Amino acid sequence: MCRYVTRTFKAPMTFLSRALSTLSFVFLSSSGLAQTLSLTFDDGLNADTQPRAREWNQQILSHLESADISAMVFPSLARSGTGTGLELIMDWAKAGHAVGNHTSRHRSLASAQVTLSEFVQDVAEGDAALRRFPTWVPMLRFPYLKEGDTAEKRDGMRAWMAANGYRAAPVSIDASDWYYNQIYAAHSKSGEQAKAAQVKKAYIAHLLDRASYYDGLAKQVLGRSPMHVMLLHTNEINAAALPDMVAAFRALGWRFVSPRTAFGDPVYSLQIDTLPAGESVIWAEAKAMGISALRYPAEDSVYEEPKLRSLSLLPQASSK
Ligand SMILES: [Zn+2]
Repeated sequence: MCRYVTRTFKAPMTFLSRALSTLSFVFLSSSGLAQTLSLTFDDGLNADTQPRAREWNQQILSHLESADISAMVFPSLARSGTGTGLELIMDWAKAGHAVGNHTSRHRSLASAQVTLSEFVQDVAEGDAALRRFPTWVPMLRFPYLKEGDTAEKRDGMRAWMAANGYRAAPVSIDASDWYYNQIYAAHSKSGEQAKAAQVKKAYIAHLLDRASYYDGLAKQVLGRSPMHVMLLHTNEINAAALPDMVAAFRALGWRFVSPRTAFGDPVYSLQIDTLPAGESVIWAEAKAMGISALRYPAEDSVYEEPKLRSLSLLPQASSK
């Protein structure tokens, strides 16, 4: 039995164009050309609660512009707020970056405490606040990449999206940038610039490692390298690390495309039969295929903390 079905779009592609599109991905991925990567940034910054929000937001945008990269931002109102934080999102839209939905309350659909109707309410509230942006795209980035702990919630949300002209916005490359950000921010705040610089270096190595891991897993699972979508956040470490990070990926032959292009890869339209649902789409497909030795949660601080401790890069309070 087929493990997944292809999503039905509102404006369905013809069989021929779908076949050609799939063929072109297969050709691009098997022809030895560069691996492709797109950048997505979750959450949004809130200038009312984060004094340096404007500075970090501007740094991220100016780095993207310098690198000639078109990205996508997924604000959650719980993180951006509904005031100045949304003004910062407007800066993304004005720079041409797509804006999607990351819900109002940033609750996990995998939580037993969150019902399907409560989650739908979160999505609808996010939609109402975000759809006014000129580069708005009706795509949902699930908080924590959790797409439901039960078949009822997972399939109910898929049905809701299909009925409301929405698509899910999964990632192929998951990585713990939020954890590196916590460590980086602690050193930055206490004036330990040398340590912060070392964390930044370790962070870039971590992203390259995760990209290589998920690309390898994709080749195993899909038989090809897809157009990758990487999960990042609007945070301090990315404001500092983006130029070096982009240079490091380019030096290894990676080519950047916009998320709008990358989401055209058929892998992001798979409806994978796993529970709990979610995580990287490559990881979930590997799990559905029964590939063993997949760690869970796929990406978490428990894997990164020992690495940073061994490098003596944990801040005092958490180095015990
Ligand atoms: Zn988030």
